[in-house]
Amino acid sequence: MSQVVFEGVTKRFGDVTAVQELNLHVDDGEFMVLLGPSGCGKTTALRMVAGLEEITEGTLRIGDRVVNDVEPRDRDISMVFQSYALYPHMTVARNIESPLMVRTFDVGETAPRKLNRDERTERIVDAARTLGLENLLDRKPGALSGGQRQRVALARAIVSRPAAFLMDEPLSNLDAKLRAATRVELVELHRKLATTFLYVTHDQVEAMTMADRVAIIADGQLQQVGTPRDVYERPANLFVARFIGSPPANTFTGTVISGGVDTGAGVIPLDGSGTGPLHEGTPVIVGVRPEHLTIGDGPLAVRVRAVEWLGHERLLVCDLGGQTLTVRQGAGDPEVAEGTDVSVGVAPAHVMVFDPQSGEVR
Ligand code: ATP
Repeated sequence: MSQVVFEGVTKRFGDVTAVQELNLHVDDGEFMVLLGPSGCGKTTALRMVAGLEEITEGTLRIGDRVVNDVEPRDRDISMVFQSYALYPHMTVARNIESPLMVRTFDVGETAPRKLNRDERTERIVDAARTLGLENLLDRKPGALSGGQRQRVALARAIVSRPAAFLMDEPLSNLDAKLRAATRVELVELHRKLATTFLYVTHDQVEAMTMADRVAIIADGQLQQVGTPRDVYERPANLFVARFIGSPPANTFTGTVISGGVDTGAGVIPLDGSGTGPLHEGTPVIVGVRPEHLTIGDGPLAVRVRAVEWLGHERLLVCDLGGQTLTVRQGAGDPEVAEGTDVSVGVAPAHVMVFDPQSGEVR
């Protein structure tokens, strides 16, 4: 088991700064997810841990070792890629064995060595049992389903019992149903192995359902690190509020007045707690999640443009003075027809306030 620590880590490709002064402490045994939109630098951050990209500036530690100049094979990590990269001509057993054909760190050993045949067989059987592949060991990858191939890739990653696992979008080749099932399996695998997981994805559902903590990255810069609940309920800035949540938080520009924020199309009430001193006349951006809005008596007059029926809930896409406001309703809430004018209530305790310049929460 090992912590992974980024200290002021920067990666530049020519003029492009892919990762900028990243400071992140992944605790020993933690499941940390790096989450962000395409091109934000999360894969580059992971590849630096793997030793597949050089570090431009800063220090990277795995366990207590600075690994900036350590060869990938000497880092005691395993990586699972989006493309499973299995050897097509080898059986499942030989694929799982492949990392053991080079020197491997063994538990408690500080220098890598090559395991003997009996040790390797024991490892293969153990990894195959953990991933439920015992009956498929003689098959070749071409004779496996996508989900089975993905499990072989995971078995190959765990067979060398590394100090940390690095995973780059390992579920993106699976269909939605298998992805959901595999998320649960990965959480169970993490619990079983009790090893550090560093997992990259652009899919917030993966991040929210699997992570102990999520590190949200945009434009190469870390935006917030926290538990899934933290980043959802207490986003540090506008980017996080708009990125996390589906649909994301509604946001409006406005001006602070007594008891609320005047958006020009209605006043969003504030309860005054937790938002710091907000003087009347201060320009702000307010954010409200769709589930903190209710149809009925309230300060916002809207017209319902569309009703999206999702079975267990409905999303009402409304027009608020030319801006879009989305309201989430439970299946049991009173139904509202498209084209209706209604008023919307706001739960003041859940209203978020951001600085319009910096985007930081107030
Ligand atoms: P995705 O989810 O699309 O894989 P990402 O968040 O993982 O995106 P990276 O692959 O880390 O993003 O890329 C971050 C930035 O660095 C992008 O602007 C990308 O174009 C750039 N980049 C990555 N690798 C290289 C490279 N080898 N040469 C030049 N630029 C690169």
